Amino acid sequence: MIQSSSSSLPPYVVINDPTCEKTDVLKTPTETIVFPLDDETLKVIRDLEAKFDQEDNCAGLAAPQIGYHKRIIILALEEDEDLKQNRPDFSDTLPKSIWINPSFTPLSPEKTTDWEACFSVKDLVGRVARFTEIAYEAWTPEEEKVKGKAKGLLARLIQHEIDHLNGILFIDHVPESELITREEYYRRRDEE
Ligand SMILES: [Zn+2]
Repeated sequence: MIQSSSSSLPPYVVINDPTCEKTDVLKTPTETIVFPLDDETLKVIRDLEAKFDQEDNCAGLAAPQIGYHKRIIILALEEDEDLKQNRPDFSDTLPKSIWINPSFTPLSPEKTTDWEACFSVKDLVGRVARFTEIAYEAWTPEEEKVKGKAKGLLARLIQHEIDHLNGILFIDHVPESELITREEYYRRRDEE
């Protein structure tokens, strides 16, 4: 058994769920984390990873999504047949990574538009324009610097997660009239 059971993990903060009280954390930019990491930050990392590991279908999570005002994300993008079929720009992969103080810069002004959804936004899906190719850098919990380039779906994922650290949700990039329900999204996708 792992030490932390799923029931002790914090729930998702969901912006459009009226029963969710502390949605401010989703709209507030986080501050840079200072090394060495304190115990509180280490706990956030453990909770974030445990939450991520619980999900079958999760490519990324940011600390504010489980109520922590911390500049930490976790992400993974592995080879996947479903993804290859539904995401024409899926190419770059990334093993599970915990990134502290991540940032990115676009490598060109070119953007790609594709569907996004989020654990912090109940039931809605929308098409978001993101930079097609970016350079990123971050620090691991061991304070090692990581940097690299990403394109396509991985670049989208990184931008989506870093947005969370800046108080931005994907729905902030989409006109309200263009948001659709998950059900509608799957219906349209199956028709294609
Ligand atoms: Zn999200």
